[in-house]
Amino acid sequence: MPIKSEVQTTEIKNAVMQLPLLRDLVQAADLTARKSLGQNFLFDLNLTTKIARAAMPFGQTVIEIGPGPGGLTRALLLEGAEHIIAVEKDRRVIGFLGHLIEAASGRLSVKEADALKEPVWEFGDAPRQIIANLPYNIATTLLLQWLEHAEAFSAFILMFQKEVAMRITARPGDAAYGRLSIITQWRSTTERVFDIPPEAFIPPPKITSSVVRIIPRKTPLAPCAATDLEAVTAIAFGQRRKMLRASFKAYGGADFIAAAGIDPSSRPQDIPVEGFCALARYYHDHPKNARFKRQN
Ligand code: SAM
Repeated sequence: MPIKSEVQTTEIKNAVMQLPLLRDLVQAADLTARKSLGQNFLFDLNLTTKIARAAMPFGQTVIEIGPGPGGLTRALLLEGAEHIIAVEKDRRVIGFLGHLIEAASGRLSVKEADALKEPVWEFGDAPRQIIANLPYNIATTLLLQWLEHAEAFSAFILMFQKEVAMRITARPGDAAYGRLSIITQWRSTTERVFDIPPEAFIPPPKITSSVVRIIPRKTPLAPCAATDLEAVTAIAFGQRRKMLRASFKAYGGADFIAAAGIDPSSRPQDIPVEGFCALARYYHDHPKNARFKRQN
């Protein structure tokens, strides 16, 4: 005999499947996309299902940032997510989503709020996942904020501009490898799952988008303080074509880099995350110039 939640899932799937086409509902409600809110909507259920499936199996709590008219939300419900908390800034959307909240029979709650100000790491029960087609203008800020609470999440399945996705997933030696790769991969593993062309969205953005799977690490890749890692990567990538001994001239140049266990002639794009952590630890213990002034 099917258990209660399976029966409920089937009923909810039926209710969602019977809803009018999203495109028609949006047109009838005159829910025009607003550029200021980064609104590029997805109506194609095949695509939204593909995104939802990239996140499966779902955790206890699925958090969706910016459900908009609910294309991805529909897919999450159809794929069996049992507890979705959505955060949406656009008040028009909150009213619009009434039909979906009703069809979801208690599995979907929508909060009108600015995601930048919400402690989503405290929402619902762990394991928590964030699944979202993010507004591009705040996407990396949100990711970095959430990664500071990485232990609260089991996974992030997020859509970014392809160029940002390439930076998040770049490895040493790749052209896109830089601060975002290092700071993200220090706390998580990252993988670009698939790309979505502009024409899949209404209205179409100018650029291709990519879905990225980010799995938080239980502990960061190597010990160091986040602020020190941010500082050394800023110094190193501030002059990305220069050798590290030149970028760190004010800190003692080649001696400083070698003391952290790194080849002073290397360039920042060749140093793995662990190397930057070693540099961050050495930087922490040797504030600017102090050691080298003493030597002079
Ligand atoms: N999920 C929908 C889809 O895939 O069709 C919409 C995605 S659209 C790219 C981004 C969504 O984020 C919009 O619904 C927008 O209103 C919402 N949004 C923008 N800024 C936000 C913020 N600061 N907090 C919460 N939601 C925001």
